[in-house]
Amino acid sequence: MFSKRIRNLQPSGTVMLGNKVKQMKNQGIDVISFTMGEPDFQTPQHVIDAAKKALDDGMTHYVQSTGIPQLREAVAAHVTSKNGIEATPDNVIILPAKFALYGAIQSLVDPGDEVIYPNPGWVSYGPMVELANGLPIPVRMRYEDGWVWDPEDIAANVTDRTRAIILNTPSNPTGSIITSDALKAIGDIAEDRDLCIISDEIYENLVYEGRHVSIGSFDNIRDRVITVSGFSKSYAMTGWRIGWMIAEQETIRMVNKLQQHSLTCLPAFVQLGALAALREGEESINEIREEFRARRDMVVPMLNEIEGVSCEVPKGAFYAFFRTEFGIPSMELAEMLLQKALVSLTPGSAFGSAGEGYMRMSYAASRENLAKGIERMTNFMGSLRS
Ligand code: PMP
Ligand code: GLU
Repeated sequence: MFSKRIRNLQPSGTVMLGNKVKQMKNQGIDVISFTMGEPDFQTPQHVIDAAKKALDDGMTHYVQSTGIPQLREAVAAHVTSKNGIEATPDNVIILPAKFALYGAIQSLVDPGDEVIYPNPGWVSYGPMVELANGLPIPVRMRYEDGWVWDPEDIAANVTDRTRAIILNTPSNPTGSIITSDALKAIGDIAEDRDLCIISDEIYENLVYEGRHVSIGSFDNIRDRVITVSGFSKSYAMTGWRIGWMIAEQETIRMVNKLQQHSLTCLPAFVQLGALAALREGEESINEIREEFRARRDMVVPMLNEIEGVSCEVPKGAFYAFFRTEFGIPSMELAEMLLQKALVSLTPGSAFGSAGEGYMRMSYAASRENLAKGIERMTNFMGSLRS
C-alpha cells in the first residue's frame, strides 16, 4: 500500500525520541530530557507581541510563497552585513530551515546522484537524500581529530556522480566548527569538481570560540552555495517553524516551485514575529549565547567526572557529544538510561556509523535539570561498572 520510498525511510531518531519523552512526561513520569535540540528559553516577548499584533491586524491569509517582502529584505540585509553573503531579496526564500534543506536537495539531486555529508552528522541529511532517490555518502570525522572534517577525506569521496556537499558548522551533534581555511579548501573542491554546497548554519550564533564563517561569503564559489539558517536556535523559536535559504536567483526560483506545491507559504503572523526578532534580536542572541556557554562550562567537567565517559569541550551549538566505554551499543544505553535512570539522551548511532560509542546530550536545558540529570547519569553509569 505504501511507496517503497516511504517504507524504507527510517524515522528521525531525534524527533521520535522527543515524542517518546513528551509522552512519558504526559503520563506523569519524571523524566529529564536532554534529547531534543531546542532552547528551553521562552521566545523574546517583543517577538511574541509582534506576532499577536499581526493576528489582531488580520494577517491570517495566504501571503507570497517566497515570504513577505519586508522579511526577505531584512534577511537579505542581515546576511549581507552579518555573514558577508551579498544578497538581495531575490536571493532569499522564507521557509522552515528543515524544509529549506529538503528543498535544496530536491532541487539538486536526480536519481543516483551522490551527496556527501558529515558522519557523524544531523539525523535528517541521509534520509533527505534518499527521498530524492539520491545516494547518501556519509564521510567520517574522528573524535581524535576533534571531530574536524578533513577536506582531503571529502575530496577522496567525490565521484562523477557527486552533486553536492552538505556542510554543518557549528555541527550537530559534535559542536565542532569548520575553520575558514577548511571552508576555503572545501570550496576549492566544489569549484574544481563542479559541485554545489549546501551550508547548514542553523547554529551560527552559538559559537563560543573564534567566529562563525559562512562559505557563501567566498567570491569564487558564491553561486554554488545554498546557505540555510533560521530563527529556531538563535531566538528560541523552534516551534515557530521559520527559517531562510540564501542562494542565487535561479535556485530560489526552483525551490519556490516546491514551496508553491507543498507549503504554499509560511503564516504571515509567524513571518512578522520573525521580522521583529531580526530587527531587535542582537541583544537576546547574546544573552542566549552566554547562557549556553555557562551551561557548557558547567556540564562538560561534570561529564568527565563520570568514570567511563570522556567529553571534549565543544566549540559551538549546544550539544555535548561524549564517548562512553561501557561496551554497550549507544541505542541500548539510551534505552537503559531512559527506563532505569529517567534521563533521555540521543544515541550517537542516530547520527551515523561514526557516532556509535557516543551519546549526545543537549545542554539547552535549565541548570537545575542539567545538575539533576547528570547526577542520575552518574549514579546509573556507576552501577554499570560495579
Ligand atoms: N539543521 C540542523 C543541524 C538541526 O539541528 C536542525 C534542527 N532544528 C535543523 C537543521 C532544522 O531546523 P528547524 O527546526 O529550524 O527547521
Ligand atoms: N535538530 C534538533 C535535534 O537534532 C531537533 C530535532 C530535529 O529536527 O532533528 O535534536
